This record gives sequence, structure tokens and C-alpha cells, in this order.
Amino acid sequence: MEINLLKRLACEQIDKHSLEIQNIAEEVLCHPEIGFQEVLTAKRVESELNKLAIPINTNLAVTGVKGKLSGAHSGPNIGIISELDALIVKDHPHSNPATHSAHACGHNCQIAMMIGCMIGLNQELILKDLHGSISPFAVPAEEFIDIPNRLTLRQKGGITLLGGKQELISLGHFEDIDIAFMCHTATGSREKVFAVGGSSTTHVTKIVTFSDEPNSLINSTQNAASFAIESLNYNREIFQSSHTVRSHGIIIRPSESFAQDKQTKVEWRIRASDLDSLSKYSEVADRCFRAAALSLGCTVVIETIPGYLPMINDGQLQSVFESNATRLLGNNRVLTIPASEKSGGSTDMGDLSHIIPVCHPYCTGATGTGHGKDYLIKDYKTSVINPAKIMSMVTIDLLANKSSKAFSIMNDFKPLLSREKYLDLQYSRFGTEVYPVIG
Ligand SMILES: [Zn+2]
Repeated sequence: MEINLLKRLACEQIDKHSLEIQNIAEEVLCHPEIGFQEVLTAKRVESELNKLAIPINTNLAVTGVKGKLSGAHSGPNIGIISELDALIVKDHPHSNPATHSAHACGHNCQIAMMIGCMIGLNQELILKDLHGSISPFAVPAEEFIDIPNRLTLRQKGGITLLGGKQELISLGHFEDIDIAFMCHTATGSREKVFAVGGSSTTHVTKIVTFSDEPNSLINSTQNAASFAIESLNYNREIFQSSHTVRSHGIIIRPSESFAQDKQTKVEWRIRASDLDSLSKYSEVADRCFRAAALSLGCTVVIETIPGYLPMINDGQLQSVFESNATRLLGNNRVLTIPASEKSGGSTDMGDLSHIIPVCHPYCTGATGTGHGKDYLIKDYKTSVINPAKIMSMVTIDLLANKSSKAFSIMNDFKPLLSREKYLDLQYSRFGTEVYPVIG
């Protein structure tokens, strides 16, 4: 069948089921769960894929769910990704009163658009013309939060890396996926409702513990934490704008008593455009923590935790998104962001983009501040139905015509890292330093 007819069939099917698809987004919104704990959300994905008779594997990197829908002919496997997790935003109108978790980043829409896309593609008339397969993949823990608990999970052997896609890469669950993409909700202007391109930062997290003898006369550990934060702020003068540096953090556990509990913990995060500049600013942060310990006469333990790598959108794959989004939405409604434009945020799709061809576009429909208590989805058509259609059309473009487009993308792709090199890099970025050195 002609490729545009296949696309029309997929879009018509999505339209026919649009209320049901929107319902998934609204129901997931009401059951938010944070990373590596997304049990109910994973069950929901499982039951939706079961309804479509798509075979699945579950409990991947704790809660991930991966399916496989095969076309009539063999060929590349396309990963359609959605993120299962929520954030902790206590005052969000849809936050869980017990856990304070809330979908303040629109990941509930990702679940629905992925299922919607599969509803569109899961038709005999389409599958018989596809050369390859499609793996809907609901992945855990994109938000880099809850760090102390994830470190405990890591110590117990439950995970080796703290991000969901990072952990899935380490377990080999992306090994059978040749090309992957997803779509993230965003706020935006009225005329542009879909965006491709841009990039993101890489980051490192520090869990810093200042400790002192119980009988010391001053509250040295809180003072050291305060000194360190001031010192970190003075160093903003050396941030180069071309490095897109962000330096932010909180005291996560203040010292509670003069007499006994002489320990204060700080969680700090540094972001930058690339790994080289990040390591420079990471060393500056360590210098501030050491200086504070030295000045107040206490000890400091600096735990360094590797974060995500910068996002690189595959150029050819991005063009396929651009043309299908334009086809669906119209010429002036798709925004192309230059690759040089880095957002201050980060995503573990960046990690995956160093290994296989990946695209991470955005759809509007949200209002408020990302991760804020006012982040709400106002238009489910633009934030769920349109991206479901665009992702189904992209998949058809990749796998129809004997998957010539998919092969062209795969052949031209030059990975920056192999999976092995990626894992070596990330594991080598973990570190623990005690200062002053004892003995
Ligand atoms: Zn997000």
C-alpha cells in the first residue's frame, strides 16, 4: 500500500480511540510514582499492551515494560519510549497525599501517546507492509531525584546506575533496538505546537557529608555547609556562558543537635554543556567542600555520582519527525531548534543518543513551570494525540519501503560510544573522597 495511505490508516485508528488514549494519560496522572517504584504505572502499561496482544517483558531495571510488535517481514527494531516516573511536588493539584509524588513533567502523557501510537500501528494492513518490528518501551526513573534512596538500592545490588535508561543500557535491554525516539510535553507558544532539535546538559551530583566530633564547641558542620555553599556561589564568576553551567543544591540533612548529632549533608548538582567543562566545574565544587571542612576543622566525605550525558538528536531521524509533524500540523506550527542551543535540563535519552540513533522532540499542551506545582496539561490533543500520530507516521516512514529509511539512518550513524565504553565511562565517574585524609 502507498505509504501515505498507511499513515492515514494509523491516524484514523488513533482518532477513533482518542478518548480512550486521553483517558490513559488522565488515569496515570492520578497515580504518580517516583523512579524505580512505578509499580501501578507499569501494570497499566502491561494491561494496555496485553489488550493489543503485544508480547511483553516486565520488571526490566526494576519496573520497565518492553513489548515487541513484528511487521510481516524482518528488519530493524524501532524503540518507542515512554517514561513511567513522576516527581515529588507536594503542592501539585494531582500529587499523591501520602507520597507527595506528582506528574509535574507530563510523563503520564508519554505513556498514553506510546499506547496511542501502538493502537495506530497494530493493524494487519499496516504491519503487512512493514519490514522490521516495533518495541514500545516504558522505562523507569528518568527524573534524577531521590538520590540517597537510589544509592541505598545500588548498595543492595538492585541497580548499578541511578537513571532508568542508564540502568537499562547496562542490563543490555537496548541491545535489540536499532533506533529509538519519544516525545516530551512542553509549554509553548500558540503557533508552534511541536519542536525538534536542541540539546541538553550533562551533570554530576555530589552527596557531601560534613562530620565533627560530638564534643566540639561550635556547630561546625552546619557552618561548613553554609561556608561551602557561599564559596560555590562566589565561583559563579568563572562560569563561561558557552558552557551552559548550572550549579544548584540544598542542605538535605542539617545537624540537629550541638551535643550529639554533628553531621550535615548537602546534595549539590553541577551541569555543563560537555563532559570536559563539567569535570572542571566539578573539581571547583570539590575545592569548595574541602575548603569549608578545612576552615571549620571538620571532615568531609564527597560522594560523586555520574548523571546524564548531553542529548544528540540524530539529524536524519529528526528530519523524518520534522516532515511528518509538518504534514500533520502545518508549515508554521513546527519549530526547529538549532543543535547548538542547549537547554539547562538533562535527560538520559542523552546517554542512549551516544550509542544508537535517537530523537527527543517536544509537543506543547502544558502550562506552568516544568517540575513546578503549576505544571498542568491543558490540551490533550497537542500533548497526546498529535505526538501519537506523528510517532506512528515516523515508524511507517522508517519501516515501509523495505525499511530503507531505517537502514540509511543506521548506516550513517557514528556512535560516540560503544555500550562497553559508555559503561566504563559512567562507572569511572563514581567516586568517594574523604578530606582531610586521615592518617
Ligand atoms: Zn520529563
